[in-house]
Amino acid sequence: MIEFQAVRKQYANGTVAVEELSLSVPTGTVTVLVGPSGCGKTTLLRMVNRMIDPSSGTVLVDGTDVRAQDPARLRRGIGYVIQQAGLFPHRSILDNIATVPILDGRSRRDARARAAELLELVGLPAELAKRYPAQLSGGQQQRVGVARALAADPPVLLMDEPFSAVDPVVREGLQDELLRLQGELGKTVLFVTHDIDEAIKLGEKVAVLRQGGHLAQCADPDELLAE
Ligand code: ADP
Ligand code: ADP
Repeated sequence: MIEFQAVRKQYANGTVAVEELSLSVPTGTVTVLVGPSGCGKTTLLRMVNRMIDPSSGTVLVDGTDVRAQDPARLRRGIGYVIQQAGLFPHRSILDNIATVPILDGRSRRDARARAAELLELVGLPAELAKRYPAQLSGGQQQRVGVARALAADPPVLLMDEPFSAVDPVVREGLQDELLRLQGELGKTVLFVTHDIDEAIKLGEKVAVLRQGGHLAQCADPDELLAE
């Protein structure tokens, strides 16, 4: 469970990105933050893995204030997927997925075997393992980004507009794949998008943000569709 309790963020230049906001992300669900560009979605997401700390209020992961947790350990339990998949250009696809677990102390052999499983899990053919990122399509790169985030088997996944850079048809495939993965793995997913259709498709709960970092409502997708 991720909990934002009366969280507020004002940046050094005075911009208030998030205005006192409380929100719960239940374990094992997909919760979507949706709203226009600049409404504070990324800021909220980055508070979970402590890339940013709130100016006031508290973020809890598994019932403990993230500021009381060891950052390296906290981040090992949190996968992070962004729009630019950010793959290592000079490493093969397999090594892109296996590198962080190896740095974390897993044996090379185990990490590579797991990476091959993850490739399959995200719907990529095994023959892509030896290629380099530039030799993959944008949608394939996003899938590798998801596989890489899953490599440490984190209970929590933060996803920041992960599918926005790909064309609509590919995006739908990626959304379906995420829902399938979620059903299979039961991760706690906090997903950021500016696209209300994507939010309604993916979210078990949808938190709607307004400019200035206000939470307008947090609702079931059915309730939002009815409006
Ligand atoms: P803080 O000290 O509150 O964490 P940062 O160190 O993250 O703030 O930001 C430093 C500076 O970078 C800000 O004062 C701002 O001028 C600039 N900056 C970075 N990203 C943005 C952005 N998206 N919009 C406006 N300014 C930004
Ligand atoms: P979103 O993800 O919804 O587009 P962000 O969380 O990136 O929104 O940004 C929220 C607001 O905070 C915006 O007005 C943005 O320009 C501002 N902002 C983001 N990062 C910084 C920063 N480091 N310094 C100053 N302002 C920032």
